Amino acid sequence: MRRVLVLGGTTEASQLARALADAHIDAIFSYAGRVAAPLAQPIPTRVGGFGGAEGLQAWLAAEHISHVVDATHPFAAQMSRNAVAACAAAGVPLLALERPAWLAQAGDDWRHVADIEGAVAALPAQAARVFLAIGRQHVAPFLACVQHWFLLRLVDPAPELHLDHGEVLRARGPFTAESDTRLMQTHGITHIVAKNAGGAGAEAKLLAARALGLPVILIDRPVVPARATVGSVAEVLAWLGAHRADLGV
Ligand code: NAP
Repeated sequence: MRRVLVLGGTTEASQLARALADAHIDAIFSYAGRVAAPLAQPIPTRVGGFGGAEGLQAWLAAEHISHVVDATHPFAAQMSRNAVAACAAAGVPLLALERPAWLAQAGDDWRHVADIEGAVAALPAQAARVFLAIGRQHVAPFLACVQHWFLLRLVDPAPELHLDHGEVLRARGPFTAESDTRLMQTHGITHIVAKNAGGAGAEAKLLAARALGLPVILIDRPVVPARATVGSVAEVLAWLGAHRADLGV
């Protein structure tokens, strides 16, 4: 029997879930549980960690999973590492659904940095108004730079964040270049900090920065072990079809 685990948390993962439901392929969607009300999916859904690579390996066996599709965010590196290790140990084929990284165009002022520490170090010495578009994890080292004002955009409220020099906006993407341009103008943004996530839904802030001629501090993707990777839902479906013979379905 074919039974697919989709590791989710991205727009592409949701698109894949829709396609699997439409194709009547038996599949389970997995969320880490980071947001209070994750988007409902058209396939059975579980929420929460598996307990590391070993926990995932045991879960794959218990649930009789035949295929794993890692459609997590490119910065969810721990989950991706665990998936590589668990699938190898369990002998379950793994495919990553990953969007290409964003590439600068002529005229873009993108400063590439390796990680969060690099992004903090790349902030200017003088006071700036920073759109910190990196989610809620890892904001503390930025907020410690008290000369700057920060705009955060989060899905859920963040009572633990005390921004006496900034503002938290609640919103869930995808966003548009027009609305992000307005947002940056309204708040007098001078710098953007973003992760090189790729994809269309999160690109709006970069298009807005381009339109406004603003510098972007762009954090490079973390390195994950080599694995088979595709860029589209159609390729995932083809991959699942290619394994039919192995599965006797
Ligand atoms: P991470 O650091 O790679 O993962 C930390 C732990 O969270 C994993 O070891 C795993 O716990 C659990 N986990 C992560 N993704 C999971 C999933 N889809 N299903 C079940 N457990 C999961 O991940 P993260 O950066 O915190 O991201 C968490 C989730 O948010 C991911 O699903 C990702 O797609 C989504 N997301 C992340 C970002 C980002 O910038 N990092 C942005 C947008 C969306 P166990 O070890 O216990 O299994």
